[in-house]
Parts: sequence; structure tokens; C-alpha cells
Amino acid sequence: MKRRSIWIIIGLMSIAMVGMGALQIYWINWSIKLGKKNIEVSIQDALRSVAKNLSDQEQKQAAANPYSREAESLRRNLQSIAQRLPPPLNLQQLIDRELESRGIFTEYRYGVFSSQRNSFVIKNGNYQVDDFSPRVTVPEYTDSELQLINSKYKTPLFALGITTPGYLYMYFPNLNSFIWTSTWKSLLAALLFTGAILFCFIYTILIVFRQKKVSEMKTDFINNMTHEFKTPIATISLAADSIQSPMISGNKDKVNRFANIIKQENKRMLEQVEKVLQMAKFDRENLNLKLAKVDIHILIQQAVDNISLQVTQKEGSIESVFRADKSIIEADENHISNIIHNLLDNANKYTPQKPTIKVYTKDKAESIEIIIEDNGIGLSREAQKHIFEKFYRVHTGNLHDVKGFGLGLSYVKALVTAHSGSISVKSELGKGSRFILNLPYLQSKQ
Ligand code: ADP
Repeated sequence: MKRRSIWIIIGLMSIAMVGMGALQIYWINWSIKLGKKNIEVSIQDALRSVAKNLSDQEQKQAAANPYSREAESLRRNLQSIAQRLPPPLNLQQLIDRELESRGIFTEYRYGVFSSQRNSFVIKNGNYQVDDFSPRVTVPEYTDSELQLINSKYKTPLFALGITTPGYLYMYFPNLNSFIWTSTWKSLLAALLFTGAILFCFIYTILIVFRQKKVSEMKTDFINNMTHEFKTPIATISLAADSIQSPMISGNKDKVNRFANIIKQENKRMLEQVEKVLQMAKFDRENLNLKLAKVDIHILIQQAVDNISLQVTQKEGSIESVFRADKSIIEADENHISNIIHNLLDNANKYTPQKPTIKVYTKDKAESIEIIIEDNGIGLSREAQKHIFEKFYRVHTGNLHDVKGFGLGLSYVKALVTAHSGSISVKSELGKGSRFILNLPYLQSKQ
């Protein structure tokens, strides 16, 4: 996938996410409003139903007995409302029934207000008056009565035309939280799902980028490998041709020389293959270290001697400064030797002109520290983060690339870790690099 298409997808997905989020906020808001409206309508409906129920009951009684109190009340309409109502607890049961049948289960207060007396005659299941005589009081209401009076939930009782003896007021102290309890679950679910989608999206994009990088590195690796093999194959082919040519086939010395070239090139190819295979093996197997007492100073000196020819050819110098008193460690000699070789080889490879390479050793509490320093091309901060990854190589643009597979340092890192050691790098572009290696004196027995 091209980088551009990835960015286009990220852009589209972000727009879609923002749009989805906005839509969700809109819907949730809308559903809260709708829920609130529904509850309000149900409450009003319940109130009307209570009023109708009360009127119906009175009319039924009046029809049954024309001389009853109910019949008299109906005729005169303005008789004390407290007397026309059923006892407060029955009234409350009626209200309960109407609310519950509409799914409204939240605490409420109620009061019956007498127009004649200008005060509440029944409140929350209790009579508020001793006598039911029509007595006009100076209106002075308590806070809870004001809450009732200011509530929008009210219905006229026993209304006849425009005259009404009183009102039933209702007040719901926890109405908002009741509405919330019916919506918070969907809100939470929406938030969770959106969060999950966002997380998966970001994670997927990160994986795409990582995979892209890995695939680029693998392509580089294959290109490199092909390149590395082409030269020896061409050389071998030329040498074989030469041996076959009649001018040379008779000359034993020359045949021998070309045969030697073939052998050397073959050996080089074998080494390359070995390097790649070894790395592949690390992936699959646990490292099996052959531990023994190893003198680090001797190993370093051997590696320095091996590489010094190449360094002096570039008019450079390499020196070792052994400051550690204790240089014997428990390790796998072969691997440690490879590690030091790899680091010295890199120090030389990545210093194009006159390398000055220094190797120091130092005693630490539980380990020996080995520092390999060069004055080469150095590494950027970004490169320093990745050089220990498999196949990673710094691109040097159009400059003639130094050969390599990007495997050396990942091998070094894997082995140092297997020895319970550590490796880090300090470097500045254009100035040089310093690799700091710590290897413990003893390996824990496991
Ligand atoms: P290779 O050398 O085969 O490419 P390595 O794993 O040994 O692979 O190194 C990874 C990359 O780290 C190299 O390609 C190079 O860009 C960078 N590098 C390693 N050692 C040095 C060094 N001493 N100075 C500058 N760059 C280095």
C-alpha cells in the first residue's frame, strides 16, 4: 500500500469518526429530550386519569343515591373539596396505580389545593385541615408547598365549566435522574463502542505502518543479498571460463590460481549464507550457550589484530586500552568473539576516511564494560532507536552504500541479551559512534 493511500484512508476514517461522534451526540441528545417528553406526557396523562377516576366515582355514587353527599356536591360543585375526595391514602393508591401503569417509578410529592381556602387540604397522604369549612386563609406557603404550586404537573379536580373547586398538584424531585437512568446505559454503550472502534482503527494503522517498514526492510535485504552474491558468482563464472580456455588449461599454475579464486569466492558466499541462516535460527530456537571461562582482553586483542590490516589500508589506526583488572568472564567464547568482530567491523565499515578506532575496557560492579569508539559517519537519533532491529540499515541516499544485510547488530543484541548483558549506543551524525557493552562476570545458573 502506498503511503499516500494510507494517509487518504486515515483522513477519510477520521472524518467518518468525527461525523459518527457528532451524530451520536445528536442522537443521544435527541433521545434524552424524547424520553423527557414521553415521561412528561405520561405524567400529565396519569393526572388526568386520576381526576377522571375521581369524577366518575362521584357520579356513580350520585346516580345510585340522589340524596347522597356526592349528589349534593355535584349539584353545588363548590362544596369543600376535601370532603369530596376519598380518604388521603386511597387517593394516594389511585395516583400510584396510574403512575405505575405508565412505567413511572420515581419518588413524588402531591397535594390537593382548595381554591376556596387558598391552601392545600391534603398533602402526601395526610389531611392538612381539621375542619372542612370554607375558610379563606392568608396564603403563606412552605417551601415544599411552593415546589408543588410551581410544578407544571397539575390537573383540575371536579371541574365544571370554568369553575373548579381545586387542583391536584404533583412534584417529582428526582425526575431528571430518573430520565438519566433510562438513558445512561445507551450512552455508555455508545461511548464504549466508539472507543473500541477508535482503538482498533489506531492500532490497525500502527500495524500497517510497521508492516510497511518491515516489508521495505525485507526488500532492501533481498536486494542486498542479491548484490552480495552477484559479485562472487560473476567472479566464479569468469574463473571457470578461464580454466576452460585452451590458453590456460595447459598452464598448471594458472589453473591453480583460478581454482583458488573459485574456492575463495565460494567460501565468501558460504559465510554470507551462514550469517543469514544463523539469524533465522535465532528466531526459532532458544540460544544454547556453551559457557566457559573466557578472557575478554585476549578476544579483543585477536579481533583488533584481525581488523587492523583493513584499518591501516585506509590510513587509520586502531588501539585497545585495557583498564579492567578483571577480564575473565563466563561466556560463550565463539559468540563473544563474533560480537566484538561485528562491532569492530562496523566501526571500520562506517568510517569512510582514516578511522581512529579505540576499544576500552572497564571494571564495573558485576560486569565488564567494553566501549568501542569510532570517528565515522555516526547515527541520527532516529537511527539509534532502530539499529538493533533485524534488517535495519541506515539509508545513505546516493552515496555508495556500504555492503551489509542489517543483521549484524541484531545478532549482537540477541547474544548480549542471552548473556544477561546490555548494549547501548551514543552517537552524533558526522562525528562518530560509541557502542557500550556490558557483560556480567558470572551467568546465573538456570
Ligand atoms: P550491516 O552493517 O550489515 O548493515 P548492522 O546490523 O551491523 O548491519 O548495522 C545496522 C546499521 O547500523 C548499519 O546499516 C549502519 O547504518 C548502522 N551502523 C552500525 N554500526 C555503525 C557505526 N559504527 N557507525 C555508524 N553507523 C553504524
